[in-house]
Amino acid sequence: MHYEDFYRRSIDERDAFWAEQAGAIDWETPPQVICDDSRPPFARWFVGGRTNLCHNAVDRHLAERAGQNALIHVSSETGQERVYSYAELHAEVVRCAAVLESLGVGLGDRVLIYMPMVPEAVFAMLACVRLGAIHSVVFGGFASTSLASRIDDAKPSVVVAADAGSRAGKVLPYKPLLDEAIRLARHAPRHVVLVDRGLAPAPRVDGRDLDYAALCEAQAGKDVPCVWVDATHPSYTLYTSGTTGRPKGVQRDTGGYAVALAASMRHIFCGQAGETFFSTSDIGWVVGHSYIVYGPLLAGMATILYEGLPIRPDPGIWWQLVERYRVTAMFSAPTAVRVLKKQDPSFLTRHDLSSLRALFLAGEPLDEPTARWIGDALGKPVVDNYWQTETGWPVLTLARGLDPRPGKPGSPGVPMYGYDVKLLHEVTGEELTEPHQKGVLAIAGPLPPGCMQTVWGDDARFVDTYWRSFPGRLAYNTFDWGIRDEDGYFFILGRTDDVINVAGHRLGTREIEECIAGHPAVAEVAVVGVADTLKGQAAMAFAVLRDAAAAADAAGRQRLEADLQQHVDARLGAVARPAAVTFVTALPKTRSGKLLRRAIQALCEGRDPGDLTTIEDPSTLRQIQDALAAR
Ligand code: ATP
Ligand code: MG
Repeated sequence: MHYEDFYRRSIDERDAFWAEQAGAIDWETPPQVICDDSRPPFARWFVGGRTNLCHNAVDRHLAERAGQNALIHVSSETGQERVYSYAELHAEVVRCAAVLESLGVGLGDRVLIYMPMVPEAVFAMLACVRLGAIHSVVFGGFASTSLASRIDDAKPSVVVAADAGSRAGKVLPYKPLLDEAIRLARHAPRHVVLVDRGLAPAPRVDGRDLDYAALCEAQAGKDVPCVWVDATHPSYTLYTSGTTGRPKGVQRDTGGYAVALAASMRHIFCGQAGETFFSTSDIGWVVGHSYIVYGPLLAGMATILYEGLPIRPDPGIWWQLVERYRVTAMFSAPTAVRVLKKQDPSFLTRHDLSSLRALFLAGEPLDEPTARWIGDALGKPVVDNYWQTETGWPVLTLARGLDPRPGKPGSPGVPMYGYDVKLLHEVTGEELTEPHQKGVLAIAGPLPPGCMQTVWGDDARFVDTYWRSFPGRLAYNTFDWGIRDEDGYFFILGRTDDVINVAGHRLGTREIEECIAGHPAVAEVAVVGVADTLKGQAAMAFAVLRDAAAAADAAGRQRLEADLQQHVDARLGAVARPAAVTFVTALPKTRSGKLLRRAIQALCEGRDPGDLTTIEDPSTLRQIQDALAAR
């Protein structure tokens, strides 16, 4: 079947289509109603069906692949490496479920997981869904205030944490951050279960804090069966990255998510049982939920859980793992590839990469130079995919299992089955159907299986935030700009709040960034619009150079700035020329690697940078502040 037909059917014969896809997972009771969309914009998928995510990810594989690799944990931080077969993973998850159950965790209870990339984090996630409890993974090492706000939002009865994480060989004690967060929070978790990695002292609070290993011993030999839950039962909550403001607590269901992920493993990632998937993300992000933990395991694959940087002990570490575990599909982010791009490319080719079929990238715009560089270096297809925490799986990409069409540079591809993607006029909400018309990327409801059900505990915020942008039309707003070309390929032009208006010309920051990133001296760049009395707004660029020495003195900086301005003039026209180019050694990003343009913009305009709970390195903002002051 042609992809076009497959796609059309997913929209025109929605229920029949998804009923078929639902056959990919095990049901205790099959669904009676495929989609209940009687209360838009809410959608309830596979109503009447009962299933369990842990059963589908782990237990169901025991019959055929008990001895096969399931979870491969590698830490280049501690030097640990451990492979769990499906049988071993099952035993660990049952033990963890027994521990949680002994602490009173049951159906619908929340468990907050604040952990580094260690196997126990995956055990805890799977143990929660085994019991019908709802996990809320918070990126390990988040500051106390961000953790406290998530504790208050999720109101967990139990927190599972570790003594410490480790980054670039430096131990990051988590326990003091957690203790402070619990002190700040209004809600008090009953228990903290602590996984002791022996990395940092972690004094326990009497009665509240318990040692995971000791609890496991006490539960040895106990069987904990999967609790069958309604397909619509929440499996987890997870926050968006906080790039544009206060993070939103995304609530995901069980049945729809399982079906969507199983389908995506088949049609998009082409993962076969017995193969190995390597996603370099973190379990604190949606990519980690969908494509480190649930997706690969649902497909009966082995999945790699990697703790460490891509460049330690050397920039070949990822590719060494590809060789060692015969990785067939890899999933990463452009920001990580840009880190590798600054290193010696020979590290990529020292290893046998023959098992690898494709590299998937998502999370932010994939600029052409970065895509070309990694594609050439690997000699493998690079597949961009566009999605959001909210959607849980790709919205735009090329479904490699069904669609032989080649990719186009700069485009993540075409709408995935199930997503009725539209381009809408930002003001009137009118649908834009001509090629190359720029509009807001929107999705006509209901959202397909696997997407967010609502904002946790706040249905009104779900409706108001996402569904009320367009007059007279109930459509999901992605808050990203897009265009579609004559072949139906989409291009993401940036976020709707990342548009600069220079003397009446509307420019996407992404366009200017991509242009500047094409200059050989530049490793990375951020462009923001700054209030300008004359022109309304002016573009300001902040660039990281491949060779910082080029901007070591004032003369060098001036030369490069003029050179980059000319570079933009020549390619996009003088209207897009940045009024100033400032050189820095790093850009402010969220922990998931997204540029915090709004924070840079705020500093440029002398405003407070706003919610910074997800920032990776606050010193990057100080650097910008200092550079601005020095200008
Ligand atoms: P918040 O919603 O809290 O501001 P966020 O939008 O960064 O944070 P995520 O859900 O992690 O949170 O990111 C989704 C966004 O990332 C998309 O809306 C889009 O802006 C961007 N994005 C993801 N993948 C791509 C891609 N392949 N190409 C371009 N942009 C992408
Ligand atoms: Mg977002």
